[in-house]
Amino acid sequence: MTVELQFIGGASCSGSGAPLSIIEPATGAEIASGAGANAADVEAAVSAARDAFGDWAARTPGARSDIMHEWARLLRERAGELAAVESANAGKPIRLASEFDVPGTIDNTAFFAGAARHLEGKASAEYSGDHTSSIRREPLGVIGSIAPWNYPLQMAAWKILPAVAAGNTVVLKPSELTPMSSLLFARAAVDAGVPPGVVNILTGTGGEAGQPLVEHPGVAMVSFTGSTGVGRRVAATAAGAVKRVHLELGGKAPFVVFDDADLEAAARGAVAGALINAGQDCTAATRAYVQRPLFEEFVGRVADLMDQVRLGPVSDPETDMGSLISRAHRDKVMGMVERARESGAKIVRGGRIPDHTPEAGAYFEPTLITGAAQHSEIVQQEIFGPVLVVLPFDTDDEAIELANDTPYGLAASAWSRGVYRTQRASREIRAGCVWINDHIPIVSEMPHGGYKSSGFGKDMSAYAFDEYTNIKHVMSDITAVARKPWHEVIFRAE
Ligand code: NAD
Repeated sequence: MTVELQFIGGASCSGSGAPLSIIEPATGAEIASGAGANAADVEAAVSAARDAFGDWAARTPGARSDIMHEWARLLRERAGELAAVESANAGKPIRLASEFDVPGTIDNTAFFAGAARHLEGKASAEYSGDHTSSIRREPLGVIGSIAPWNYPLQMAAWKILPAVAAGNTVVLKPSELTPMSSLLFARAAVDAGVPPGVVNILTGTGGEAGQPLVEHPGVAMVSFTGSTGVGRRVAATAAGAVKRVHLELGGKAPFVVFDDADLEAAARGAVAGALINAGQDCTAATRAYVQRPLFEEFVGRVADLMDQVRLGPVSDPETDMGSLISRAHRDKVMGMVERARESGAKIVRGGRIPDHTPEAGAYFEPTLITGAAQHSEIVQQEIFGPVLVVLPFDTDDEAIELANDTPYGLAASAWSRGVYRTQRASREIRAGCVWINDHIPIVSEMPHGGYKSSGFGKDMSAYAFDEYTNIKHVMSDITAVARKPWHEVIFRAE
């Protein structure tokens, strides 16, 4: 079915770039096709966003908030459609789309509707004695946002909501593999009363649409979520124009199990944390470090649980784990597992393409690996598939050192009944989020963002406003004195 894959100035339209085919990863079937965006469409979208900026930025926070509450209400009304589209386009089970992606997005929208009225800053006061200082938080202008394919709807929400709540306008480029829910999200914005041009969607490849968006002089800031490699390139391009950049990049979350942990909780948490979204989650548990007395039993329990995970059609509510995003990505995951095997690691479970799922889909079995070396590729590099590597440790010092021993720093978890151990882990593990006795849950009120090669800046929460606003200091003389004593430091003319 041919569809319009662009949303510019409040209306769907066709792109001017190369044709795109949108595939259902679980079956290989085409969902839609249409023309992708290129530099001409970037021009049109940035122009629409610039035109919309003055009016949107001038509205009161209360006015923006009312419209965003209506946006949240419409999303709630359209939740079923959103979940079905997200599940089909991203290859994720309908249960995950209905109970995680969509409610999370609605909650984010409602949160930022409220947060729009709570921009904060230092109190106005006479800090010099002779002046009143006050703070203005001002929107930046047009934000160019670029999103990945793993959580298309939530990533669109995380990028768009704080930006527009603060009075900016946005041109979002979703992944060319998964644009469908972003288009619905933008349509709901306009139906709710967000003025045309405030939210624009450009469906296109990184080269044809992403690069020109980052380069465009009308874009004030680039907000990017994706891999560390592409993020590095985006940051380098943006640096040329001294544009503000926000980077949410890859992850390689450690999952540290101390010998006083609740073993059942840790094993269940590891399976859920590693297999969520078929492991295509930047915070997924990928490296479990287990203190030696618990190691064998932990591996056994995780293997038993993995055996019970049901792979199947994504529209079936009984399906636990869906497809990877594409066969090309599955080949990459499988290649990493194969190289681990060749270098001496043991594949305890999985590591193969299942035999009962559609051949044209991109399914991969839940995979459990032991015996890998800390400095091997499978432990150091992002896999982005349903693969958990388990390694033993002896002392608490060693656990912290191993947890910190990758280039990434997005998320981590520590499992123990001992408060001093968990407190130490939360202090010493260098990651943007450290869970204690859990792994994965997120809330709209709390920030998400990385350390090290996982990037910088925060999505979600009021902290996101730090990315999407400029802080202006306004300093007003209150003395009405022409000859100010401080002038004499500079000159002493009569
Ligand atoms: P990717 O880096 O390949 O692509 C991300 C986006 O960048 C896509 O929209 C792509 O079209 C675009 N792009 C590619 N080249 C570009 C260029 N030269 N200029 C501008 N845009 C360009 O990532 P992906 O494979 O879509 O997603 C998976 C990655 O995303 C993983 O590394 C994962 O960890 C990361 N991720 C991070 C977070 C986080 O919050 N830190 C969240 C989700 C996903």
